[in-house]
Amino acid sequence: MTGVICAMDLELQGILDMMDVSSESEKSGIKFYKGKIRGADAVIAQCGIGKVNSAICTQIMIDLFSVDEIINSGVAGALSLDVTVGDVVVATAAVQHDFDTTAFGAPKGLMEFDGERIIEIPADEALSETLFECAKKLEDTNVFRGIIATGDKFVADSEERLSIGREFSALACEMEGGAMAHVCRRAKVPYAILRSISDDIGHNTTVSFDEFKVMAAKKTVEIISDFFEKKAV
Ligand code: SAH
Repeated sequence: MTGVICAMDLELQGILDMMDVSSESEKSGIKFYKGKIRGADAVIAQCGIGKVNSAICTQIMIDLFSVDEIINSGVAGALSLDVTVGDVVVATAAVQHDFDTTAFGAPKGLMEFDGERIIEIPADEALSETLFECAKKLEDTNVFRGIIATGDKFVADSEERLSIGREFSALACEMEGGAMAHVCRRAKVPYAILRSISDDIGHNTTVSFDEFKVMAAKKTVEIISDFFEKKAV
């Protein structure tokens, strides 16, 4: 079964609308909907904004729903001038740009898993490739594959966007994907992150976010729909 996690209502609702829900349950204040999307088994949830919410939700999905894979879907900000509102980014890997032990001489974002020290948590290749193929079917949409940077901060400032982008070679920033990747890495569950850009360097950030978040979220819903259609065959 595939799990899908979104942070905000507007990101989940479109997916919920196309789901045949067979059961609903609640844990730690998060509602989990289980059922079929386009004929394929799924469990979906709105985790809330930020890394801790995302981590809690991911662990519950793994423990209580035995998911085989998890997709984090939603909107994101651009970290490069090449990426603009309405574009789609599928993660090759996730980094946590606010994970900082540089005081000890470590590079920013360096984490340890089972004795292995890494900055980038690689996304599952096959799952990400399928999402990428689905995304490419959208009209008038540039689709990128690249690193997504996660942190507990809405990154508004253009200079900060460019600096995080450069530091981690990342294309987009958001507030949940890296935490989900972290939990999935520990639990050895394949993951992917699918994000559509709601705000970029060319637009006034918060205005752009409010103006474009609905359009951006709709794109991810379309991609998720196509993904489950493929899955059901
Ligand atoms: N009060 C706002 C808060 C949005 S936070 C609201 O509820 O409408 C931004 C959300 O969109 C997070 O879930 C994050 O994953 C994503 N996001 C979009 N653009 C972002 C950016 N520039 N920086 C960080 N997160 C961003």
